Amino acid sequence: MFFPRLPRTFTRKFHKAENKRERTIQGSFLIAVPSGSKITEIYPKRVSLGEVLIDSGALRILAPVNGVATLTEDGTHFQIKQDGVWKTSSPFQNRNYSFAEVLEKFVEGALASLDFPNLSLLKLFSSFSPEDHFKIVISPFTRYNHLSFDEMILTEMKEPLDLFLLLLKSTFPKAEILSHIDSGKIPYSHPLGIPEFFIHKTTGENIPFVNEQIQNNRILFLGPETIYHILRSLYYDEPFTRRHLSVCLVDKKGRMDTESRQFLLTNGQSLDFIRQNNDKRYKVASFQSMFDSVNALDINSLGNFNIYEHYLLLLYERLPVVRNEFACIDCNECNTYCPTNANPFALVKKRFEDFEKESCIECGICTVYCPSGIDIRSRIIEVKGF
Ligand code: SF4
Ligand code: SF4
Repeated sequence: MFFPRLPRTFTRKFHKAENKRERTIQGSFLIAVPSGSKITEIYPKRVSLGEVLIDSGALRILAPVNGVATLTEDGTHFQIKQDGVWKTSSPFQNRNYSFAEVLEKFVEGALASLDFPNLSLLKLFSSFSPEDHFKIVISPFTRYNHLSFDEMILTEMKEPLDLFLLLLKSTFPKAEILSHIDSGKIPYSHPLGIPEFFIHKTTGENIPFVNEQIQNNRILFLGPETIYHILRSLYYDEPFTRRHLSVCLVDKKGRMDTESRQFLLTNGQSLDFIRQNNDKRYKVASFQSMFDSVNALDINSLGNFNIYEHYLLLLYERLPVVRNEFACIDCNECNTYCPTNANPFALVKKRFEDFEKESCIECGICTVYCPSGIDIRSRIIEVKGF
């Protein structure tokens, strides 16, 4: 699908904002406390960049700057007033690690898999033993391929990448490493960023078998954004306190600008700079992709950057149309475009036994192509929940 580029003035405005990044990240940071987290420290207290604020068991949240942290009265957020200075980048350091040291570094740096939700890298890597035979699949695509992390790694971090691949080989000598990050041969199209689909396409194994292998620790999957942060942690000593946000514009005809703007943001920083620098025509925002159901927000209430939830922001010239659902017209478009032959048409017709739910990767393509506006993906998620 081809989307025309939007007028250059928008691009210029965004670039201007990016150059002022140092100014936008100063001040106050607001970080949500995940529900169920236990807070053991007494606040307010002084914190340093990289100090643990919350350890929810699954994921850790670190102080993004040096400053004074206060817990809001309702206990739902940390507010950190930055003071003093902190380094925003460190030089590359050529280092060797044992497996135990790698795991320690993952804990210290609060690293998480950015391919699977709520999965720490400690948990992911600890599921594999150096004695095991398994596959390590390295993909060049993030879930929606919102940014070219593969290019960023290959141009700026080639040496650390080579070191990390050697580290994987020496740590897991019996594993087969299938790295596609520098192959440059696979053209991207959705849903190649979904791990199960990427593995299916590159190994030829069917989706249910791939799922089983992932669940039973026969495949270790690493996408490029996860690799990027692993390299930043192991070879640049940078904890997971910053992440890229990709901002894309969608015009009033629903066409998305192909050239996204990227910002390297600090966890908890205000996203108000986007409103301030944005063309005023773009009033509606959403952190969901075009293939998800959109939770539309007013651009004036974007809140603060959440490192675990925010990686893509769509700015709409007009509120995404809430589509009315009409009756299925038996056109079979959903089945025609389904990339895994899961037979979503059967699900719409309530022939649940004929829907191949093990093959469905919830990519949302069937919903996008349905001319009757049926939100097939939501129905699938509902059925899978039972
Ligand atoms: S059924 Fe729909 S959501 Fe599932 S894989 Fe097919 S197109 Fe994607
Ligand atoms: S694409 Fe929509 S209208 Fe067409 S068969 Fe599938 S569910 Fe029915």
